[in-house]
Amino acid sequence: MMQQQEETIVALATPNGIGAIGVIRLSGPDALKIINRVFKGKNLEEQDSHTIHFGTIRDAEHIIDEVLVSLFIAPKSYTKENVVEISCHGSKYIIDRIIKLLMKQGARLAKAGEFTLRAFLNGGLDLSQAEAVADLISSNSKASHQLAMQQMRGGFSNELKLLREQLIHFASMIELELDFGEEDVEFANRDDLRRLILRLQSNTSNLIRSFDLGNVIKNGVPVVIAGKPNVGKSTLLNALLNEERAIVSEIAGTTRDTIEDEINIKGITFRFIDTAGIRKTQDIIEAKGVERTFEKIKSSAVVMYLYDASETNEEELNQILEDLKAVSNEHNSSLIVVANKSDLHPLNYKKAGVIEISAKDKLNLDSLENALLAAVNLNLLNSDEIIVTNIRHLEALQKTREALDKVMYGIDNPVTSDFLALDIKQALHYLGEIVGVVTTDDLLDNIFSKFCIGK
Ligand code: GDP
Repeated sequence: MMQQQEETIVALATPNGIGAIGVIRLSGPDALKIINRVFKGKNLEEQDSHTIHFGTIRDAEHIIDEVLVSLFIAPKSYTKENVVEISCHGSKYIIDRIIKLLMKQGARLAKAGEFTLRAFLNGGLDLSQAEAVADLISSNSKASHQLAMQQMRGGFSNELKLLREQLIHFASMIELELDFGEEDVEFANRDDLRRLILRLQSNTSNLIRSFDLGNVIKNGVPVVIAGKPNVGKSTLLNALLNEERAIVSEIAGTTRDTIEDEINIKGITFRFIDTAGIRKTQDIIEAKGVERTFEKIKSSAVVMYLYDASETNEEELNQILEDLKAVSNEHNSSLIVVANKSDLHPLNYKKAGVIEISAKDKLNLDSLENALLAAVNLNLLNSDEIIVTNIRHLEALQKTREALDKVMYGIDNPVTSDFLALDIKQALHYLGEIVGVVTTDDLLDNIFSKFCIGK
């Protein structure tokens, strides 16, 4: 891992494709020397950090482009190495030519995430902050952006640092006892230790619990639309999505595929799952509609059950709702009951707690959207609490919690100090994995290979 950093790496930092400008990034000990060999203008090796210079990039005497070069001299850069950013015209041809030219002068093409990996290895970021960079780049809603920003700026790291410091303090007391092993002394007051572990357990548990929210914010709240054939499910889905699309398509070049079945309500992304089924079943009489709904509840946080207000048999509806409530309680998902076709008269069935809409005429859809928002408990988001969004962090926290439970057991059922010390070391190890105090090459590869090239 370390010898890689003697090499200077290069990659396009902006998206592949045609743009007004493209930014090529170089990082490493030779970044200035390499750019200087192909840049005509000032001598870039003699310039100050954080300055921008106009000039041309040349292959021998052939001018490839007029560019602006920004200099960030070590350690005052993202990677803590010498970094050069070349802003050129955003033609694929120009970008390819410049990158190849820089490679000919000794730079190597960067691997996925390698700039951020170097930032981590050189101490610019801890591991959870580096991961937040990837989250920030892929954040697509106000809430996911807020969480990634908080993590990148070190909110989560600070919380973990506090936990680690307390544990290290604890461990050092126990180590002292070990040093005096034969004499049977207790330096660490067992009641104090107990209180400390209780607090650590509770902090860890809060972080673990926050993942439920963190995960849905990062990945979108999974919603299932259920109901019998012809009650208006696909009409409703289209109504909800179309409103969104109208806004989204204003932003040129947004990736339509990924937002295909998502809507954003007040900064929270809701993801409609298994919508292919809804679209396909339009013409097919589906006898097993309700049973399939029960299956789908397992993978959703919210179930929207739709019925046709102009047709429904009250007894049958009550039965279905009762069953749905039982299943959604069991799987911890929220149930929203929607009476569709409220434009048709007369409405022969009304029920308390039911949202009446007309999907066709787009009536009362805002009540439905509010119900969706209310189905997610967002209190935590509006507090200053740290919210865990990363499954790797969740797993490390769960292991930390198990180790803390063992420590507690050791205090309550007096075991010897050396066993306590072992369990505390385990807890420290898992907490350390999150911020990267403890790492392996495999772990780093796994994290950074998921980044895009140029990050
Ligand atoms: P799905 O099988 O549940 O997906 O139902 P569809 O969305 O395909 O709708 C079935 C039929 O009901 C279609 O003819 C729709 O035009 C009609 N429909 C859907 N929503 C409404 C509504 O709000 N009012 C009325 N009057 N008709 C609706």
